[in-house]
Amino acid sequence: MSLNLHCHLEGCVRPDTASDLARAGGAPAPAGGWDAALRMRQPADLTGFLAHVAAAYPVMGSADALRRIAREAVEDAAADGSDFLEIRFGPATHRRPALPIPAVIDAVVDGLDDGRAQTGLLVSLVVCLLRHSDRETNLEVARSAAVRAGRGVAGLDVAGDELRLPSLEPYVEPFRIAASAGLGLTAHAAEAGPPSAVRDAFETLGVARIGHGSRVVDDADLLAWSADHGVTFEVCPTSNILTGAAPSLREHPLHAFLAAGCGVVLGDDDPVTIGRRLGEEERELLVTGGLAAERLDAIHLRSVEVGFMDEADRAILRAAVVASPATGISA
Ligand SMILES: [Zn+2]
Repeated sequence: MSLNLHCHLEGCVRPDTASDLARAGGAPAPAGGWDAALRMRQPADLTGFLAHVAAAYPVMGSADALRRIAREAVEDAAADGSDFLEIRFGPATHRRPALPIPAVIDAVVDGLDDGRAQTGLLVSLVVCLLRHSDRETNLEVARSAAVRAGRGVAGLDVAGDELRLPSLEPYVEPFRIAASAGLGLTAHAAEAGPPSAVRDAFETLGVARIGHGSRVVDDADLLAWSADHGVTFEVCPTSNILTGAAPSLREHPLHAFLAAGCGVVLGDDDPVTIGRRLGEEERELLVTGGLAAERLDAIHLRSVEVGFMDEADRAILRAAVVASPATGISA
């Protein structure tokens, strides 16, 4: 039993698929091969981590490639035993002159539909604004997501360099458009930026879910504020270790979030980049990470309640969580 609430499509590209797509598109292979380009083996920093994720971008510039990559991401999550995959991506990165933003989103929706039909895995799509995109592009992404609400798109996120581009003001209008369409809202915040970025995102964009938020544990007042306001942190344990945001699973911010009474859900962020899938992360958290099985059950229940999905899927998952307590894993 696992529910993945933070996973980027760009970090799901199989090395073999990247190699196929590059060959078909006449793109050169990276000097050290695709596996070394896409997979990060040693902890470093966020910049190093994002370089591995970005290595996949050159092979993601066609509708056929996006559809295949999305379908395979679902297949791989299903093979890992996942029960729910909420996958996100930034359409603006993959736009080309012959592939406008609506077509980028449609290709990924089609691929996720293919994967769901093939595996039965419940899947939702979250569309990301990017901090380095211009205003018009982010508005177009939000509008394109909003018209697909309930028809393949379930949520809106903002991702990108929060140190260099901390202001949230450019995303107020896109988030308003998404909220009016009934999309779920989340934002990457306080991964690299200051703890106060969480409160900013909550108050400025209306999000109650925060991607990472690791830095909040540096500020006891803000941690308490987050618990009081029902904030849920989307925690990606191994990713945080590779980016240097956490020293180990045992000394991971997720323990402080839980101890403070904050909501926690889990994701594997970029499973190909980190070389590990959520099922394995959860087992490691139980075996070596100091996470009690009852805590993992609470994480699964929280995931069902805050996940961006329709009510039919939520009812299915609620029943599945109750039927598969994590105490069964550690026993
Ligand atoms: Zn992320």
